[in-house]
Amino acid sequence: MSVKLFYENRYMTEFDGTVISCTPDKKGWAVVLDQTAFYPEGGGQPCDHGVMQWGESQTAVTDVRERGGQVIHYCDSEIPEGTAVHGVIDWDRRFDMMQQHTGEHIFSGVVNSMFGYNNVGFHLSEKDNVVDFDGPLSKEDIKAIMDKCNETVWLNQPVTAEYPENVNELEYRSKKELTGAIRIVTAGSADICACCGTHTATTAQAGPIVALSSAAYKGGTRINILCGRRAVEYLKQRNDDCYDISHQLSVPVEKITEAVAVRMSEIDNLKYQLSAAKRQLMAVWAEAAQPVDGVCVVCREDLRSNEILMFTQLLAEKADTAAVYSSQQDANGKICIISTVKDTNKLGRHISATLGGKGGGKPGSYQGFVEKDTDRETLYRLIKEFE
Ligand SMILES: [Zn+2]
Repeated sequence: MSVKLFYENRYMTEFDGTVISCTPDKKGWAVVLDQTAFYPEGGGQPCDHGVMQWGESQTAVTDVRERGGQVIHYCDSEIPEGTAVHGVIDWDRRFDMMQQHTGEHIFSGVVNSMFGYNNVGFHLSEKDNVVDFDGPLSKEDIKAIMDKCNETVWLNQPVTAEYPENVNELEYRSKKELTGAIRIVTAGSADICACCGTHTATTAQAGPIVALSSAAYKGGTRINILCGRRAVEYLKQRNDDCYDISHQLSVPVEKITEAVAVRMSEIDNLKYQLSAAKRQLMAVWAEAAQPVDGVCVVCREDLRSNEILMFTQLLAEKADTAAVYSSQQDANGKICIISTVKDTNKLGRHISATLGGKGGGKPGSYQGFVEKDTDRETLYRLIKEFE
């Protein structure tokens, strides 16, 4: 059994140990030491990374697992058995995991005491700290939970881990039935939970605690939380975003939500006015268009699909068969055909066979795209030659 120094001192960043065994493995070299401060993956907490040094040599520790009481370090290089090594933990990574993990305890404990819901899922990674609860939580509920979590942070209460003898008499959270010695982690006044992970020494060190987003999930709620430095980094970035928007809109940062709503309303009005102006313009175009033998073809640039349809419908009022082609900047041209005398789907396929592209529609109306640029004369000829 490897001595687990991370349980004796959770803040141990460096340590000395001796190699008990080193065997080749598909993940590199599997190294077991007599003692280690590298935390192996467990309790939802990802493992530590770091390096091992001996003499002039060094190897990266890229994964750490526990198997039958042995802590196995997966390393890039072989280390001879009996070698005395110096281990260095990637402390930024470990402390981040400790902050996230402790924050998750506080958050889950507060949800449990305020709403009676259980934590039924936990995913912690370098990016995510996601917690699932078995009941619904509104936005207002989550704000109240955040307030309570951060009050617990400010109380600066100890976070302890013990193997109590009277564990059967204790009320504690646990996701599964446990046997043997049960490690009970107490996160201040917020939480008592069976857990094998590493945690900060006090609730204060896990703060601030921020609920980032929430969504209904399997009848309950999935919440993404950020704790400690992650929360601060996130808030710094969002603050920068708010000031950027404030600068762009030329309003104080406190007014950006109102200002965005005003701009969106202005954009909606402009879209409506533009659409009305385009309808008038198309009516003028349609008025000027001259059908030849019942066929009316017009080519224009950069019309949207709905505008092409609208324009073709206007032309169809004065011709048996109406077609509009619109070339598009950096994209295939779009085409619409409406006819009361021709099978528009077959006609569309005939045009596609000549110009490339594809499309479809309902009887009497075809919409699609063509790969090649075309002109009015070519389209007129293709339509006329199709019977
Ligand atoms: Zn824990």
